[in-house]
Amino acid sequence: MPKRTKPQVRSGVSPPGSLNPRLHARRRKLRPAPEYVEGILGGSRVLLSQAITLIESTRPEHQQLAQEIIGLCLPHPDSNRKRSIRIGITGSPGVGKSTFIEALGLHLLEEGHCLAVLAIDPSSKVSKGSILGDKTRMEKLAGSEAAFIRPSPAGDSLGGVARKTRESIILCEAAGYDTIIIETVGVGQSETAVHSMADFFLLLLLPGAGDELQGIKRGIVEMADFIAVNKADGERLPLAKRARQEYRNALHLFPPKESGWTPKVEICSAETGTGIPEIWQQIKTYREKTEENGYFERHRREQAYYWLQESINQQLLAAFARDTAVRERLKAVEQAVLDGKLSPFLGAEELVRLFLDR
Ligand code: GDP
Repeated sequence: MPKRTKPQVRSGVSPPGSLNPRLHARRRKLRPAPEYVEGILGGSRVLLSQAITLIESTRPEHQQLAQEIIGLCLPHPDSNRKRSIRIGITGSPGVGKSTFIEALGLHLLEEGHCLAVLAIDPSSKVSKGSILGDKTRMEKLAGSEAAFIRPSPAGDSLGGVARKTRESIILCEAAGYDTIIIETVGVGQSETAVHSMADFFLLLLLPGAGDELQGIKRGIVEMADFIAVNKADGERLPLAKRARQEYRNALHLFPPKESGWTPKVEICSAETGTGIPEIWQQIKTYREKTEENGYFERHRREQAYYWLQESINQQLLAAFARDTAVRERLKAVEQAVLDGKLSPFLGAEELVRLFLDR
């Protein structure tokens, strides 16, 4: 694969000086967008990291530059966008997500793939991330040149984090990563967000505990293309087998999927590696089938449409919230609505009219 052979740092690109690219980039002089793009396409992880940092930044000049970079990465003929597969992995804390991703990731690297791991976790903080923030996680994977691991952008709303992750996917694909794993904690709304950007949705569960006990909602089970009952080793093996049967039974009750794919349930052990190659094989089969029946492409187009709508909503709301006329009137309208003197509908209409009339 190109990533193994290409030099990681091209001539004229300074090597990374900090483990925390966020701190580093803040002080660094910005480059013109084409320089980032050239670096990203050439396999520079440093410039890829810096560009993702721009995506994550809230500063308007960073945002503008980030959008330029994304725009240049999107249609690039060298981009692996079409050839990549985006895998969403979810499961409650402790189920073994990072152990699993490391095991699966190492298997993928052996097959010659390049892997990027991104996370959606609005609760994470840069230094004390509940997901991927801990530097000791996925150590072997992180040490490989063909893998790129990025923690979740911190301190933002779910919508914000999800958008940033989606945009980061575009850059990772342009950089040549052909497999993208998007990791989430399956206890909030983040799994819906991951569904809006993944081709394949994998749910990790523990043996011997009902999904309610694991904080997993029925809706998530229904969304899954594959359920892996992890930790199927040692004393837990019989429990894991029983759980597999229970989930297989449960899945029968769900309506058939639009993708034409029948969700599978298997057991695995991320720790021993048992079952991991078989899961990868299933992902490849899923891809072949859904490419053949057209769902793969259709789903991506639907996702693009969803994100267009989302972005319109977000941008309109942001412009609305910034508008001075709206801001001047907002408090009074809010109060009137709360006091029952004005209907919410009329209050909204008044504010929107103020916004549109400017
Ligand atoms: P995460 O919070 O979902 O990312 O879970 P981790 O990957 O951090 O794993 C949580 C704990 O479970 C760690 O102590 C792992 O060593 C352990 N673990 C993960 N996978 C397995 C497995 O397949 N078998 C066993 N026995 N332990 C596992």
